[in-house]
Amino acid sequence: MSILQKIRDVFYPRNLTCLVCKRENFSNSSVCDGCNSILPFNDKSICGNCGRATAYPTEYCDICKNKPTNVDMARSAFEYLQPISTLIMRYKYGGEKYLREYFAQKLMPVFLKYIGYADCIVYVPMTKSRIKQRGYNQSKVLAEEFSKLVEIPVVDALEKTKETYSQVGLTLKERTQNLKGSFKVVDRGAIKGKRALLIDDVLTTGSTANAVAEKLKSAGAEEVICLTVASVNFKKPIESDEKDRKSDSLNEDIL
Ligand SMILES: [Zn+2]
Ligand SMILES: [Zn+2]
Repeated sequence: MSILQKIRDVFYPRNLTCLVCKRENFSNSSVCDGCNSILPFNDKSICGNCGRATAYPTEYCDICKNKPTNVDMARSAFEYLQPISTLIMRYKYGGEKYLREYFAQKLMPVFLKYIGYADCIVYVPMTKSRIKQRGYNQSKVLAEEFSKLVEIPVVDALEKTKETYSQVGLTLKERTQNLKGSFKVVDRGAIKGKRALLIDDVLTTGSTANAVAEKLKSAGAEEVICLTVASVNFKKPIESDEKDRKSDSLNEDIL
């Protein structure tokens, strides 16, 4: 992590400026009232399985119907739309690690409403070279922050053993193939017979969550529940100014 990132992480004047618009903030929250009113909270009808926003409540959305997964249930606090998508980009690529606190707070009501309990928290591991490049593993950092709120331990159950390449333009089958063999169980005992809560920033296609869950279950995990800050709703058109950022994110290894 660069010195600048470290300084910003320590000294960023939280709550004095809004996390989203960065203007002076007079609300009690770290997001000003104006921005808060336009946040894409995922609190309307959702798919009972993947937790993505749907037009009406359903047990299995069109994506889930055709796609068996090892994830028992997924939920997310927001839809992956502006301004949350930009906030996540800043957290992931902009070194704005302090955003983990806000994200962890927003996961809390979703956890309480739909999930309730878990034996341990897991995260999506990253290769050492990727951590070095980015400064931190955003999934792990968020998992640790959330762990403090719910007092459920984070376990280092998995390691990422090989770098996965861009998932852009790959079919679902190819994505799965791309991820195959990239995760390794390193602590079987921490997972066996457990209800594990997988924490990540975005649920995109769900391929990564599925690959992680598959490994955890092969190590004896009883259940794998996924909780993310946001989930992509493929039915909603992506705003044009977001397309570039979106393809950036699709270039990543977190799909
Ligand atoms: Zn604001
Ligand atoms: Zn679904």
